[in-house]
Amino acid sequence: MVKSSSMQPHRSMAALSPSAGPSLGDMARALAEGCTRCGACAAACGFLCQHGLPGDQAQAALDGAAGGDPYQCSLCGLCGVVCPEQLAPGEFFLALRRQAAARGDLDLARYRGLLGYEARGHSRLFAWQGLPPGCDTVFFPGCTLPGTRPAATWRLFAELRRRLPRLGVVLDCCHKPSHDLGRQDYFAERFAEVMGPLLEYGVSTVLVACPNCHKVFSRYAAPLTVRTVYEFFADNGLSSLPMAAGEVTVHDPCPLRAEEGVHRAVRGLLAQAGLTVTEMRHSRGRTLCCGEGGTVGCVAPELSTAWSARRADEAGGRRMVTYCAGCAGYLSRVAPTAHLADILFNGEGPEGLARALAGRARVWRAPFTYLNRLRLKRRLRRLLGLA
Ligand code: SF4
Ligand code: SF4
Repeated sequence: MVKSSSMQPHRSMAALSPSAGPSLGDMARALAEGCTRCGACAAACGFLCQHGLPGDQAQAALDGAAGGDPYQCSLCGLCGVVCPEQLAPGEFFLALRRQAAARGDLDLARYRGLLGYEARGHSRLFAWQGLPPGCDTVFFPGCTLPGTRPAATWRLFAELRRRLPRLGVVLDCCHKPSHDLGRQDYFAERFAEVMGPLLEYGVSTVLVACPNCHKVFSRYAAPLTVRTVYEFFADNGLSSLPMAAGEVTVHDPCPLRAEEGVHRAVRGLLAQAGLTVTEMRHSRGRTLCCGEGGTVGCVAPELSTAWSARRADEAGGRRMVTYCAGCAGYLSRVAPTAHLADILFNGEGPEGLARALAGRARVWRAPFTYLNRLRLKRRLRRLLGLA
């Protein structure tokens, strides 16, 4: 018997709420006093170039003066990596977003499309938890991969299930959009609805395919263990590997910049598939935003476009491979980009693989993405015994 559940509120919701952490005032003071105005972060970031150094923006916040619009920061975290003082300006800009949302200053209409996408992902129609008896590990594919690449997602799940026969699956949204818009309370409530049934059922491990889901789960889903499927396959192998050749370069998604094990796993899988990986100037911990981060495109499309263009420039004509469906979609506008799943779970023979490597894998777009997710849900229910 499989437990099938949808969005039940959960008693331990408070335990899942984001930790209070330091106040905005404390963060601003630490940044204003700790920042030496060296400019290393601004040299890497168009937003800071336009709106001023983090220390000055923090001082402006303390003085009640107008600073930069935090909704133009992509929350990519690169500033924190290059800062010699180990400051984390991206966290400060997220805190400013939370303050704006709490005060009612966030214009939700700007983000209507994105928030509708998030709400549909969590709705009774699309969300589903399939938890087989004895299941302690679930696959959480996220929203975009199943919609844009339903066949690859199905093959990926089947491959996981070969190793983990009692694997469960959770179709839902992690609510990263609301999280990054600063809607902290809304995010905490919705994420608790995702997590509650998993904790109640005794699930201990979540395997994610999406870097944004990884960021949310690793930050808020304690005591669950969170791993990417790419690490799982690097450790456990694949039943069959594609036979490719040639050079590719890897775009590491910025939510995973600190995850060295994921960087190694992805490169190892590409090497096993016969591909030679050469690195861009900014990779792994110093990777760049693809342009989609922080939903900057909704308010400052020129900044978002500049991130993408910079990435394409660094790729220098090489074929890019990434492991985020959002990054793949954004970067495909400016350079040939494949999702790792397009390569590992292609299923269309040598020609399909060649198309994928050229950044021309079949990628579905709305409204078909929604139809794909419904079909995948029905297929999974049948497979797990809930036809
Ligand atoms: S998080 Fe990224 S976009 Fe925001 S200030 Fe830092 S480097 Fe710039
Ligand atoms: S790199 Fe660090 S110290 Fe230098 S300007 Fe940026 S936040 Fe300030």
